[in-house]
Amino acid sequence: MKEKLMKMLESRNDEMIKIRRYLHENPELSFEEEKTANYIADFYKDKDVEIETNVGNGYGIIVTIKGGKEGKTIGLRADFDALPITEQANVPFKSKNDGVMHACGHDAHTAYLLVLADCLIQLKDELKGKVKIIHQHAEEVPPGGAKSIMETGKLDELEAIFGIHLLPLAPAGTVGYHSGYSFNGRTYFKLVIKGKGGHGSSPDKANDSIVAGSYFVTAVQTIISRRVTPMKSGVVTIGSFDGKGTFNVIKDSIVIEGDIRYSDDEVQNVIEQEFHRIVKGIEELFGVACELTYTPDYPPLYNDPELTEFIADVLKNSNEKEIKKVEEFPKMAPSDDFAYYLEKIPGSYFYIGCTPKGVSEPYFNHHPKFDLDEDALLVAAKAVGEVTYNFLEESKD
Ligand code: MN
Repeated sequence: MKEKLMKMLESRNDEMIKIRRYLHENPELSFEEEKTANYIADFYKDKDVEIETNVGNGYGIIVTIKGGKEGKTIGLRADFDALPITEQANVPFKSKNDGVMHACGHDAHTAYLLVLADCLIQLKDELKGKVKIIHQHAEEVPPGGAKSIMETGKLDELEAIFGIHLLPLAPAGTVGYHSGYSFNGRTYFKLVIKGKGGHGSSPDKANDSIVAGSYFVTAVQTIISRRVTPMKSGVVTIGSFDGKGTFNVIKDSIVIEGDIRYSDDEVQNVIEQEFHRIVKGIEELFGVACELTYTPDYPPLYNDPELTEFIADVLKNSNEKEIKKVEEFPKMAPSDDFAYYLEKIPGSYFYIGCTPKGVSEPYFNHHPKFDLDEDALLVAAKAVGEVTYNFLEESKD
């Protein structure tokens, strides 16, 4: 069956690229992907398969492929939302949707998975076990789609879940993996500091929120440098300090917003605890009132070591010529809501190199000039196909 699957994928490479280009031209923002979801549902319309639409808090789609033989159940996920970016990449299939762009390769994720799913559907009599294809909406914007899809319970039976992300860290043909914590977790925060407004000449009759806020900004910088073990990592970024006022008026209140990242749950706990302590301290120190919104969203992404090793083994032993190199990739600073699946289901999120040919310094994901080598689509399809086949074949009858 595996040889047939690989041949089928090869023969449908052009179709995969066509689908990717169509999606690229028609990007939609997170939670607004109605047309994209319809396009995906249409793709499965006349196929002998069970499809569920509007899964979770948006346009999520789950397709269940039941194999002809008993076996394990596996999940494969691809996200399909785009970003609020005006495309500057010089491609003939440029975004037709002004200010919206597939700048993270989710168009390619969806294209390869549609074709792989269709090949699996055609081969399902020979397939052992069950494959759940998860076409996920809204990866880019918290709360994201993944958490809500998990909460439906529709993935409870999964014994493993896999997904890939295209990254221009390596040329097409390279597959990357990373065991354990692999993407950072993320928290949004907002702090309102309320003092007392007054005349610039009379600070004794006012309570300056800008001075209190300035202490806060420097104090939170000590969390990472003084409270988090140097063996781990975290980031506290103040992205906005809104204290706009008038030069001779003491500002009554200010709003500070920011972004916090952490390599694992232990670091998140330290940062959260210290954050609350510092806010309490600022109230005490300056006699101001603070309102803190502290919302951890995407958790740190943890790749199951055993399944990551399994992927690396399978792909290193693959005879497919498109899979040229399988290597360990570094830990990634961004966040991905694939982490929610991995909190409950063992699995691994791995990487497909896609640096455009002849480019030495590629634009990274989320850049308006982000572009990819479409050879990566067949690499992704074959790699995930290999992993799926081998995982299910390992099943005991
Ligand atoms: Mn992405």
